[in-house]
Amino acid sequence: MKLNTKFPVSEMQKLGELVGKDESIRYALASDLTLDRRFGQSFIAVTDKRIVVLDHAESPRTFDLEKIKEIRIDELFGSSRLVAVGHDGDGERSLIYYTRACVPEFAVLCRVVNEQIRKQESELPEEDDPAYCARCGAPLPERGSNCPLCVPRLKVFFRLLELAKPYRTRLLLPDRHDVPDHRGQYGTALPHQDDRRRRHRP
Ligand SMILES: [Zn+2]
Repeated sequence: MKLNTKFPVSEMQKLGELVGKDESIRYALASDLTLDRRFGQSFIAVTDKRIVVLDHAESPRTFDLEKIKEIRIDELFGSSRLVAVGHDGDGERSLIYYTRACVPEFAVLCRVVNEQIRKQESELPEEDDPAYCARCGAPLPERGSNCPLCVPRLKVFFRLLELAKPYRTRLLLPDRHDVPDHRGQYGTALPHQDDRRRRHRP
């Protein structure tokens, strides 16, 4: 996956004015929503020192990585946003908004920037890993990851199987009322282990 979108010349100029010569741009990504959440474009660039957010309508916003504890994704109605969380409950600040179409790219950006903040090695997923679920078409949280919509469905299915386990023998056997017990009486419990134990109790 590439997190080095080419910015329009105007945005590159703004970025050039902000970013020092000793700074290198690590990641650059375009969003499909403006900073006032309309369809359009805004851009996020991450250097080794800061995050810069650009939008043609507004002056660039910069955020020092040193002051950021982590960035996280906020799922909103119809869109998502990246949020920067400051140290020591320093509050949260909106970075950039985007629609479902950009979900996989921004999920990766969020992860690698957090790894950068924690000074960990980052690895970008392969370019050809799928960005959308092959089964239901939903955008994946990260390229090549499990589908958040399909996986819970499978989990629920296996959980139901688990819950059905104690009843399985009963489900497979005929109804208890149809089987005479050891005394030849109908309508009593099947002689499974518990009942046998109970019966031997004084
Ligand atoms: Zn799916």
